[in-house]
Amino acid sequence: LAEIEAARAPHRAARFEAVPLIAGTALPDEVLELRNPADPRDVVGTVSPASAADVDRALAAARPWDADPATRAEVLRRAADLYEDHFGAIFAIVAREAGKSLPDAVGELREAVDFLRYYAGQAETLDAPPRGVFACISPWNFPLAIFTGQVSAALAAGNAVLAKPAEQTPLIAHYAVGLLHEAGVPRDALQLLPGDGATVGAALTADPRVNGVAFTGSTETARIIARSMAENMAPGTPLIAETGGLNAMIVDSTALPEQAVRDILASSFQSAGQRCSALRCLYVQEDIADGFLKMLTGAMAELRLGDPWDFSTDVGPLIEAAAKEDFAAYIAKARAEGRVIWEGDVPGAGHFLSPTLIRVPGIAALEREIFGPVLHVATFAADEIDAVIGAINATGYGLTFGLHSRIDDRVQHVADRLAVGNLYVNRNQIGAIVGSQPFGGEGLSGTGPKAGGPHYLARFTARPAPA
Ligand code: ADP
Repeated sequence: LAEIEAARAPHRAARFEAVPLIAGTALPDEVLELRNPADPRDVVGTVSPASAADVDRALAAARPWDADPATRAEVLRRAADLYEDHFGAIFAIVAREAGKSLPDAVGELREAVDFLRYYAGQAETLDAPPRGVFACISPWNFPLAIFTGQVSAALAAGNAVLAKPAEQTPLIAHYAVGLLHEAGVPRDALQLLPGDGATVGAALTADPRVNGVAFTGSTETARIIARSMAENMAPGTPLIAETGGLNAMIVDSTALPEQAVRDILASSFQSAGQRCSALRCLYVQEDIADGFLKMLTGAMAELRLGDPWDFSTDVGPLIEAAAKEDFAAYIAKARAEGRVIWEGDVPGAGHFLSPTLIRVPGIAALEREIFGPVLHVATFAADEIDAVIGAINATGYGLTFGLHSRIDDRVQHVADRLAVGNLYVNRNQIGAIVGSQPFGGEGLSGTGPKAGGPHYLARFTARPAPA
């Protein structure tokens, strides 16, 4: 910890900057401030958003990375090393810009580095030409890992990349692109276009010079992008989309309660629930429900909400004020209906929301993805397990699912019937391992192939392998 503190301390009050990185052009003039979601008085830095004209110039300047595969792999590995060398700045920016706790920031760095090295390794044996120009559009909730995963895959395959980070997190993206350039990625092969979805995102996904799009974000935005691509781009232009989820967990009466509670806390409240994989709807078998929920709410009361910079923080803030207001209204409605089982106090400034437990009849009551530390709970009878599986499948989403049971036949029964990308048994439902346990969803949750899996890179080439 002392080493981490020493490495990140110089960046505690530093100001970072994100500007469009377009090969060979000048800077735009609009400048916006970015503030720490845990403390709005902390100005983390500034961003100069790209304009539609900047998108045009970047597209004109884009050149696929024509180095041989061995060179591309070497450069990406060098970038991975640079990421590791700069962990202090990365932890600091991820905490201050995205409100992520230290364990989250460590996870971000590890995953990003794993993506770089994994795709570097795959690039060496890839026997296919690039597609050309790839637009990579990423979300704020994994502002380093997902950003780097998309960009490094597209680059490993030899494409020119135009990267558009989320409007909330351009600083870490700008920092990462700086390291990638320093490692040797040419400036015309990797350009950065910070800015909002409606301007930069829409311009990128409506331009016929773009030969492929990698997108992670909401299902709704994925649909908008798919429509725009269909209207404006060559037929068959790939859209690789990772989208939302309505993720459930079943805890049956044979589960180990202490373990299940611990795993629920991580699944629902780590990153303040701002993970697409996070647990949203918990099904508890009715004969254990009373005691189990008492144990769960007792544990929720122990969670520490606070500044993600602090080592002792379990739950950080929401990304922005609008998210907090949205949830406040959502929870107020549930409270008025007498369905809030537990909620706690929140620390002063900052966009904090207490972990909250809300009773629902079942997952069908969740009309949308709830992207915060809000867990819904329903109960089921011993003979209702197939009805629960049916309700989960009927949402149309299929990202993550958790099961706590110590009956082998039941584990197999559930696994055979649920259409989800990632299934977690007797553990928390977060995390993936680049290379061996890749991450991705089914149905409304994404197009596949899974990021960090054997087929992902091929989608960035002109010779796709099976999805
Ligand atoms: P979230 O709810 O995570 O913010 P979004 O899908 O809105 O999800 O955002 C994910 C990414 O998609 C962000 O980089 C955002 O700017 C971008 N985006 C939003 N709207 C559009 C759009 N119409 N076209 C292209 N990209 C968009």
